[in-house]
Amino acid sequence: MTTPARTRIAPSPTGYMHIGTLRTSLFDYFLSKQTGGKFIIRIEDTDQERLVEGATESLLATFSKLGILHDEGPFLQDDGSLTQKGDVGPYIQSERLDIYRPYVETLLGQGDAYPCFCSRERLTEMREEQRATKQTPKYDRACLALGQDEVTKRLADGEAHVIRMKVPEGQTVFEDVVRGTVSVNNSDLDDQVLMKSDGFPTYHMAVVVDDNLMAISHVLRGEEWIPSTPKHVILMNMLGFDVPTFAHVPLLLNADKTKLSKRQGDVAVEDYLEKGYLPAALINFVGTLGFNPTGDREVYTLQELIDMFDLSKVKKSGAVMNIEKLDWMNQQYLKELGLDEVAEAARPFVEVDVDDPMIMRALFVERERIHRLTEFAEAIVPYTGYDAPDAETITWKKSDAADAKVQLEGVRAEIAGAPDDIYENLSYVEDRIKAYIEKNELSNGNVLWPLRIALSGLQKSASPFEFLWVLGREESLKRIDQAIAVL
Ligand code: GLU
Repeated sequence: MTTPARTRIAPSPTGYMHIGTLRTSLFDYFLSKQTGGKFIIRIEDTDQERLVEGATESLLATFSKLGILHDEGPFLQDDGSLTQKGDVGPYIQSERLDIYRPYVETLLGQGDAYPCFCSRERLTEMREEQRATKQTPKYDRACLALGQDEVTKRLADGEAHVIRMKVPEGQTVFEDVVRGTVSVNNSDLDDQVLMKSDGFPTYHMAVVVDDNLMAISHVLRGEEWIPSTPKHVILMNMLGFDVPTFAHVPLLLNADKTKLSKRQGDVAVEDYLEKGYLPAALINFVGTLGFNPTGDREVYTLQELIDMFDLSKVKKSGAVMNIEKLDWMNQQYLKELGLDEVAEAARPFVEVDVDDPMIMRALFVERERIHRLTEFAEAIVPYTGYDAPDAETITWKKSDAADAKVQLEGVRAEIAGAPDDIYENLSYVEDRIKAYIEKNELSNGNVLWPLRIALSGLQKSASPFEFLWVLGREESLKRIDQAIAVL
């Protein structure tokens, strides 16, 4: 049996959810659900300088709109182990600050970390010099050379300082499910700051401690984090932690294969939702970027994605965000919605009353013709408002106005005489009109063209049957009469 995977997404609250964060979250989610494990959300907000008001709430709201919910909350038992309360959480690092300090103390005690008193100015100068002489910018360990007495005194005097890790000599190697073996010379690594002068842990310290405390089995994240991972592995070894399975997922790309950027399109999940993509379609689209379970189709249910997810099949190359494909996919999902579901989906995007049965039917018909929910506002105009067409528009190109008039009068009588229950179902209306055409040996074009124009007022629109079904008898007759009047 597979061991249940414990996965986590650890976004920093920047004010929106990056589409790449959603992709990693989905891979985390698939993996955890497939193995009966847990998906954890951890908000990494220890960088006080970058805090954005309301950003955490907005991130969580987006997860919840998408239905991607965390399975565990922030409850630590007295002995430091986790309680498994699925209904609480998620974890928020700024609420866990006391947890990190003892680990920093351990590292200091072991000689694996040291205080650094260097001022910002000195560090900037040092880096500029290193750049000028073409060296990799890296802390020069000036403070590691300080004598113990001096360090003790400066600490006792309350001098501002940070704590840095002391990168050992040698090599660091880790396995990555997507990238294979990654190996670095430790001499290329910087003595990373672990604790800032304000006493807050840095990302590197907090991520290592939290992944351990939360018993994370698989660390999935964007490939831009690869340079940080060796430092984390070193810290894990220093602290005696198990090293999790790593998978660094490739970047998302614009259509021209450049790194996904705001300039070329949206990068925020919220923008996609606002543009009228259904959560399920967005999940299908984003959850298959760089990973297609079978390669022979595009549309997968969430359960299929969970069942078929395979981390080792995630492509190494960047995944291109093809918005046309997303539009197409959204339409596939729209087509599957029932009457009530369409109305609910449309509600935030239209100003009309979506609970009105006529509007509901109009939305239901038009969902087949649109790609995004925002298009509903325009799509329902022919049902709510109507410009009576002129004679030329009503007349089919293979016929004339006199015939159009005769046909409209004929079909009008048929509609007027038909029972109310034909409006119960779109196919009843369609069957009735088709039977009328057949019985009277009429031509489809001669009848249906003028009928459709009379009902919609438009050259291009849904079918006449759909209009009849949406508008109902009374409104349909009114529009047909108006058309007859101009012929
Ligand atoms: N807080 C990091 C971020 O904003 C998390 C990286 C990781 O998953 O370790 O992406």
